[in-house]
Amino acid sequence: MRTLFDKSAKGRTAVVPAMPEKQAGDMLPQNLLRAKPAHLPELSELDVIRHFTENSHKNFSVDGNFYPLGSCTMKYNAKVLEHIAALPGFTQIHPLIAQLKNGEQYTQGALQAVYEAEQLLCEINGMKAFTMQPMSGANGEFTGVMLIAAYHKDKGNKKTKIIVPDSAHGTNPASAMMAGYEVVNIPSVDGMVDPDVLEKNLTDDVAALMMTCPNTLGLFERNLPKIVEKLRKIDALLYYDGANLNAIMGKMRVGDVGFDVVHLNLHKTMGTPHGGGGPGSGAVGVSERLVPYLPVGRVEKTAEGTYRLNFDYPKSIGYIAPFLGNFSVYVKALAYISRLGKEGIPRAAEYAVLNANYLRKKMESFLTVPFDRICMHEFVSTPPEGMKALDLAKALLEYGIHAPTIYFPLIVHECLMFEPTETENKDTLDNLVTLMQEFVEKGKQDPSFLQQMPLTTPLRRLDETLAARSMVLKQEEE
Ligand SMILES: *Cc1c(COP(=O)(O)O)cnc(C)c1O
Repeated sequence: MRTLFDKSAKGRTAVVPAMPEKQAGDMLPQNLLRAKPAHLPELSELDVIRHFTENSHKNFSVDGNFYPLGSCTMKYNAKVLEHIAALPGFTQIHPLIAQLKNGEQYTQGALQAVYEAEQLLCEINGMKAFTMQPMSGANGEFTGVMLIAAYHKDKGNKKTKIIVPDSAHGTNPASAMMAGYEVVNIPSVDGMVDPDVLEKNLTDDVAALMMTCPNTLGLFERNLPKIVEKLRKIDALLYYDGANLNAIMGKMRVGDVGFDVVHLNLHKTMGTPHGGGGPGSGAVGVSERLVPYLPVGRVEKTAEGTYRLNFDYPKSIGYIAPFLGNFSVYVKALAYISRLGKEGIPRAAEYAVLNANYLRKKMESFLTVPFDRICMHEFVSTPPEGMKALDLAKALLEYGIHAPTIYFPLIVHECLMFEPTETENKDTLDNLVTLMQEFVEKGKQDPSFLQQMPLTTPLRRLDETLAARSMVLKQEEE
């Protein structure tokens, strides 16, 4: 790929404004001037536009094609949400204004947006309070585990362990470790947390169990009431990884089931394009007993109907993120929830589950579906013996469709995990099924057909370990 520097030609420029009477050198103090000119490429405006437009097409996006990447909820996000988040009233306030003396009067609209987003998420999830501060799912998990730690410390509980099922997203054990806990990994039975296996690991020093529901196999946990009861007995808390909210929003409220903490991935479920590292919002909801430990400042509504920031929470875990987190992301979530409303929210979940089950039933004839029952928003599958999940994924790329998630969760052999989301229509799903079936048939007759894929993508197969371990991010200076 040629960089802008490769394309540079001496003397080429875009439109150059007429020179001011004074040169920069006359206006700036001498000690601030560069010793030698910056090494910048010289290009016309058209060169630059073509360069970036071409490159943007090399980047796969849901605006371009189907993106059934399991566990990531790569749904289409309506452009109107971007428009709302970009309103000048939101984008042109200084993030520090609310914290200045009497500054709240200038940010009432923004504070109201925070407050209302929290209230709506409480309603949808059955929680007592929400904080919008965490800036990703993983950051939300870390916040949640810190809240759990603060609770136990406050109560004088000696707790050192957190239980995480083997189907969990890798961020779960990582968050628990970062917050200082020892992680106890428990095996799933028939794809779920088994109350007896849990019981065996449930010593008095267990602080919490982290669950994902529906879990990363796309299965709904069947033993929640029993699990809640066992944890309550030893004052252990129940953490809910809500990254998969898309399957159950408006259908089940985690607070009603007995969960104490939940993090959501608003960037997955509610209106923000994601991938490539953000921006995200990992809003965290808590039950009554964890409210005192929430991050500050909390947005509160006064008796007069105005909004203020309250920092007076002596037991708070403190700041998790500056400026109340990724504001624009949860403004999009607020717009998304407001537009879909009480009827639209569960309907979106229903279509997400319907689409996943449609794919699952269609693919059963040529892939092995290890958990042969109704799935939630996603399902896992395995190709025929001898065929690699990687090769099938690469073949899809050649046909313009993003690969499913592969080799995750680790407990499924040659795992292919599909999550179609509710925003895709039947034609798109059928096209994926036809292609997958064709690949499996061709791959059985001639394994080299799949092994050579992809043929025409900007890069074919790369050494992923090398690419991750020794990334080249800098253009060498000549
Ligand atoms: C995506 C995901 C996470 C992590 O969220 P990030 O926003 O990527 O940090 C955690 N758990 C599950 C189940 C997920 O799907």
